[in-house]
Amino acid sequence: MDLGEIIGRARRVLRGITRDRYDRVMLEALEELRALFPDKRGSWYMRALIRVYAGVRNIKPGFWRVRGFPELGDRYSFYNVVQLRDGRYFCDCYSRAFGYTRRKTICTHVAAVILARKKNRVLEEFLSSELEKTDLS
Ligand SMILES: [Zn+2]
Repeated sequence: MDLGEIIGRARRVLRGITRDRYDRVMLEALEELRALFPDKRGSWYMRALIRVYAGVRNIKPGFWRVRGFPELGDRYSFYNVVQLRDGRYFCDCYSRAFGYTRRKTICTHVAAVILARKKNRVLEEFLSSELEKTDLS
């Protein structure tokens, strides 16, 4: 998928329109993200969604790499997100340009990691329930 396709897909899911199972999994994860951060603007969820569709890479436990897009205001081609021992997330955009303003809020790189983790969990639950159905038949 190119960025244009990803944006179209993210926009639909944000409106609750799903075309396949993967979108439905994503929508469920998005609802959880909304419940966790209810005060964000639509563009914040939109960016998080786009980033997850574009691919969030889990490099090792507690360490993710999120792709950067100039269209989303990113200055770098990727960002590193780590989860600290206390559970908080830290993105290296906080220490880069404009980091100070971003730090006060949760950047959408971190939002993407949270959403990606939720999506993976929902997907696992979905797949295991599919397997159970298969076992019964
Ligand atoms: Zn960031």
